[in-house]
Amino acid sequence: MATTPIPLEARDIKKRFGSHEVLKGLSLEAHKGDVITLIGASGSGKSTFLRCMNLLEQPDEGELIVHNEPIHFRPTKHGREPADWKQVERLRAKLSMVFQNFNLWSHMTLLENVIEAPVHVLKKPRKQAIDEARALLDRVGLLERADYYPTQMSGGQQQRGAIARALAMDPEVMLFDEPTSALDPELVGDVLKVMRGLADEGRTMILVTHEIAFARDVSSQVIYLHQGVIEESGTPAEVLDNPRSERLRQFLAPKH
Ligand code: ADP
Ligand code: MG
Repeated sequence: MATTPIPLEARDIKKRFGSHEVLKGLSLEAHKGDVITLIGASGSGKSTFLRCMNLLEQPDEGELIVHNEPIHFRPTKHGREPADWKQVERLRAKLSMVFQNFNLWSHMTLLENVIEAPVHVLKKPRKQAIDEARALLDRVGLLERADYYPTQMSGGQQQRGAIARALAMDPEVMLFDEPTSALDPELVGDVLKVMRGLADEGRTMILVTHEIAFARDVSSQVIYLHQGVIEESGTPAEVLDNPRSERLRQFLAPKH
């Protein structure tokens, strides 16, 4: 029986910076349509875990398996590195990341931002890439901003543009690192609405967010990290509504 490939698996990922072990053996499995939310205090390792999954950081130990294909590492003097950067490039194209600070290229218009990777990485014909980009911009409510530069747009518009750019790669997994944390409160809703649409259409997503109500709504799994360890993991009902540890209860308690 043919089985559906698992978009992304991380097994026992460890990462240290100098003598500081930041990730102490983290695992997750993102199956198709899963929305996995990482929560935890600042410094608990959420961003590093996401960056390791995307190989923006090299995990010191552990396995990463993208679409059932393990990433190959080879030992170096100080640890290890990917054995085949071509493989990393190919597999990374299946994982699109959206950052806290939008990260649109400032010297390109919004449309140019969205078509850049489809044209240069996926080698799509420019005309096709433009047509697809315009459809994506329409979808995130930014078609009329296609020819604007990032500095001419609000933070919320830039972030929706960054999501359109990520979608243009038709990624198998979308990674979001606190996509609304840098936004003025009145701009958060539009971005969450776009993300909810992606969740509803069955996109596989791994996200870091402090928007607990949103996490409760969209997540299939919530993972609570504390000092580089998964302390609790389960459905939103289990983790967010019935936290087992005092620490997680404190973390979830309304701030004054
Ligand atoms: P979070 O996203 O949960 O706030 P991070 O993953 O950013 O946490 O950071 C986890 C820990 O790793 C923190 O103590 C942070 O200072 C440290 N750290 C992150 N990136 C680096 C780096 N490039 N060099 C050294 N320490 C780092
Ligand atoms: Mg972070």
